[in-house]
Formats: sequence, C-alpha cells, structure tokens
Amino acid sequence: MLLMTDAPRDAEGPEAECPRCGKQLSLCVCEGIEPIDNKVALLILQHPQEQDKSLGTARLTALHFANATLKVGLSWASLAKALGQPADPHAWAILYLGSARAAALAPDVDIVAINKKGEVEPQQQGILRGLEGVVLLDGSWSQAKALWWRNPWMLKCRRILLNPARPSRYGKLRREPRSDGLSTIESAAMLISRLEKRAEIETALLASFDRLLVRYRALQSASPTLEHAKHPRMRKGHASRNRSQNDRRAKAMRRRR
Ligand SMILES: [Zn+2]
Repeated sequence: MLLMTDAPRDAEGPEAECPRCGKQLSLCVCEGIEPIDNKVALLILQHPQEQDKSLGTARLTALHFANATLKVGLSWASLAKALGQPADPHAWAILYLGSARAAALAPDVDIVAINKKGEVEPQQQGILRGLEGVVLLDGSWSQAKALWWRNPWMLKCRRILLNPARPSRYGKLRREPRSDGLSTIESAAMLISRLEKRAEIETALLASFDRLLVRYRALQSASPTLEHAKHPRMRKGHASRNRSQNDRRAKAMRRRR
C-alpha cells in the first residue's frame, strides 16, 4: 500500500493512511484508544497475504492492549521467537481452528479448553486461570490453517474454542470468514474479557469494531465501487515490503509501551 501522508491527495489515488491503525483515514477509528492493561498477553500472527486493509482488525485490536504483539509472517521457530521474548508455550493457548464445535461440546459456556483429541478438558477452570497468553491467527480460514501447519510449536499450546452467543458483526461484509465466524477483534474481546473476567474489555473493543463498521458501510453506500479503487493492484515484491514495514511498525508500537 502506498503511503501518501505527505503528498497532496489525488482524486483518483489512494487516500492517506493512519500511521497507527494502517487504515485509510476515512476508516480510522483508533484515535483516543487507551491501551488496556491486560494480564493475559495477546499475540496476533497475521498471514502476509491477509490484504483486507479496510475491514481487517488485527492492528486495531493490538492498539487496544498494552500487552499485545502483532507479527506478520508465515512461520517462527518458537513462541518466544514470535513474541520476541521468553515464553512457555504450555502456559499459552491458541484459539483453535479444528473442527470441534464449542456449541456441541460445551453449550453452556462461551469459552472452552479442549485437548488434542478435541475433547473438553476436565480441568477447565485450572487451565483457563493459568494462562499467560493467547495466540490469535489473523487471516482467512485457509490462511489461518497455513499458519497452523507451518508452526509446529503451536501443538504445545493449549487449545481454546469460542462459543459466541451471537454471530459476528461483520454480517455479510466478509466473503471468507473464519470457521467460528468472528473477526480478530471480536475473538480477542471475548477471549481476554472472559479470561480476566473484565467485561469492560469486550465493551471497549466491540465499540471500536462497531465504529469501524459504521464508517465502512457509510463509505460503501457513498460509492459502491470505491473499494476496488482503494486497493492499488499488488505488484511483485510489494507483499514482502509490506511485511517488513508492518514488522517495523509493530516493533515501534511495542517500544512505545
Ligand atoms: Zn487510525
């Protein structure tokens, strides 16, 4: 994506981007977000081909937390490498992509820890209370699956399923939703607020997501064909440049804390 921050805006060209959330300014809702002091750390791993700049929520989610790391890439040698600091994968959980359905396994709860066979772990409270952090995979269903298979250390993590009471607020806006249908920001909201028993976390994140969707729908109805114009055609080499750029931004974000 071209950065046009200093250039005058061309009527046909892409709109300037917010340096914090990476969205075009008409979709930026990150102003005034106060990072939440979370005890359960959050690691978001984004597939490099995740290109939904308009509706993607990974960076917006990371901005909401003091203890969050966003990495763009395909594989990391270990959880510690992905995180950039020592960490024990056994004390972390990953939001699991497998076919086990939370609604069938544990209909009465909205977060459930499962074992490698896809069964409900008998010691739910002990496992959920002991978690130091959670890993979220950001991308389409197939991109998230690619991340899972390329990072064997994820097998050491606990597995969590979400059982959302209502479907994603994305509605029909996304063509290729995750298997559980939730956006990254909705998943993080549910996970961290349940694990820390702080409902206000979910309230804050969902309010941001609602603001984004309101802006997106307004933009869409103002110009239904606008979306295509806003995505400059990807050229060869662009993806890797984007990745290092995002990594630098993520690092800068972490330094700022
Ligand atoms: Zn922004």
